[in-house]
Amino acid sequence: MTPADIAAAATELEGAPAETALRWAAQRFPGRVGFATAFGPEGCVLLEAIAREKLAIDVFTLDTGLLFPETLELWRELERRYGVRVRGVKPALTVAEQELSHGPALWQRAPDLCCDLRKVQPLRIEMLQFDAWITAIRRDQTPERAGAGVVERDPKFGLVKVNPLAAWSSADVWARVREREIPTNPLHQRGYPSIGCAPCTTAVGAGEDPRAGRWRTFAKTECGLHGRFTSKPPKES
Ligand code: SF4
Repeated sequence: MTPADIAAAATELEGAPAETALRWAAQRFPGRVGFATAFGPEGCVLLEAIAREKLAIDVFTLDTGLLFPETLELWRELERRYGVRVRGVKPALTVAEQELSHGPALWQRAPDLCCDLRKVQPLRIEMLQFDAWITAIRRDQTPERAGAGVVERDPKFGLVKVNPLAAWSSADVWARVREREIPTNPLHQRGYPSIGCAPCTTAVGAGEDPRAGRWRTFAKTECGLHGRFTSKPPKES
């Protein structure tokens, strides 16, 4: 797609139901579109819509080997309930092999490198088979995501990126979850609004940013999947 095509599609799909954007992606990129989910509520909403619409979209998750047990159980529950397969994409190194190569608990010392090894590099390899990918990002999640279009160019992977929930609020997502009784991670009810790998995710307190529990001791807000790395020296405690 040319930049003009992408801009036109973004304009056309802005404000459209998420299902419309998903259908557009499946029809525009037959057999060449993937959806990477980490099983946040947004991802569960999109997965339910993909299954309900029976769309030919290849759904996968980055199985870092460091996910919460609750996330692994949700993965299986979604597959059971919606009759879909969510492929687990693993890093080249197991956690034990990474420890041998880079030392123990790399995430405590160099989370950008750890995310690069366990998320970005596997995703980059996975992306070679696609022309487009779908994400569950919303504009109000982080400043880095505020400018996301429903359709945009992804310079990191050289693909078209489709963000069907770009304009949704968290309240919109949870309303859909309740309306369709979509399974979500039970950790959300225990103070974890945003859930990644277990070593890098803590609960948040009242009034904290929903993503404050991600890489809490670092000035890092993204894995590097949706933009540039954002790690800086550790946050002042
Ligand atoms: S979230 Fe943490 S454990 Fe997971 S890949 Fe990134 S740094 Fe490593």
